[in-house]
Amino acid sequence: MGLLQVTDRGLHCAAGNFHIDPWKTVERALITHAHADHARGGSKRYLCAAPGVSVLRERLGRETSIEGISYGERRVMDGVTVSFHPAGHLLGAAQIRVEHRGEVWVVSGDYKTQPDPTCATFEPVKCDTFVTESTFGLPIYRWPEPAAVIRELHEWWSTNQQAGRTSIVFAYSLGKAQRILAQLDGSVGPILVHPAIAAMLPHYGAEGVRFPPTDNAAKDNLRATAGRALVIAPPAADDSALVRAAGEVSTAFASGWMAVRGTRRWRAADRGFVMSDHADWAGLNDAITATGAGRVLVTHGYTKPLVRWLRERGLEADELATQFVGEREDRE
Ligand SMILES: [Zn+2]
Ligand SMILES: [Zn+2]
Repeated sequence: MGLLQVTDRGLHCAAGNFHIDPWKTVERALITHAHADHARGGSKRYLCAAPGVSVLRERLGRETSIEGISYGERRVMDGVTVSFHPAGHLLGAAQIRVEHRGEVWVVSGDYKTQPDPTCATFEPVKCDTFVTESTFGLPIYRWPEPAAVIRELHEWWSTNQQAGRTSIVFAYSLGKAQRILAQLDGSVGPILVHPAIAAMLPHYGAEGVRFPPTDNAAKDNLRATAGRALVIAPPAADDSALVRAAGEVSTAFASGWMAVRGTRRWRAADRGFVMSDHADWAGLNDAITATGAGRVLVTHGYTKPLVRWLRERGLEADELATQFVGEREDRE
């Protein structure tokens, strides 16, 4: 028994009468961030960090009852104090702190410790029990400096232009795509974005995130900018249609999975850029240490290796069962 428990609906706080990132409908849902494996529709009321309200509404529908709370602001729910703290994962992403009778839990959601111009930086929060994700919870995952990756991406774009090829970058439509776009130099050439990515831009703009000018990756725009443009599209986009309209292309994936060769469908791309919105092995360890938690519950990813590693370091650690939605590759 503990302050939070996994039920058939998701992570539940009985004392506070709420769920965190529930996978079934509930009365009161606290949401770490708007990705589909954390934010499901149909619940009665939602609470999330204020900068994340409009992207969550875009995902769950306009009629959804969503309330925003500022980072750090405390709210008492049936005697349980909750607050949201930056997770550095994407716009509005939060770790959720839950305090009851002197006991403190923090649920990380997804997080990264690297800088990202499109969201608030990860903030370590002291707690007794830390529920951590482990998407990249193996020592083989080590991210390069994000600025160096963005430099490589610009070099690749220029090289493609010289060869008369359109550059197509596949990146997750919420979070990764905007993170890349915000760092692109619009003076290099035209930038086109897939409609799924474009739909999110006004929500970022309203929160003060600035982007270079873009056009929609529609057929006529692709034709008009062929050989010069950089196109950002979600991994699930029909690349054959893009390629037909753009002519000669070079394709790339931007993902943490690019750190390891041979990850299934990424293999077909000409180029891989190692850029993740999750913590790498060192980031996970730094974040866990910074919480000062004596107990760590590991979820979402390489749970077993991370639990074993933490136990060897003298921490109390266990896996926390959650439901996966979609493939591992799609969650990054
Ligand atoms: Zn996520
Ligand atoms: Zn996730």
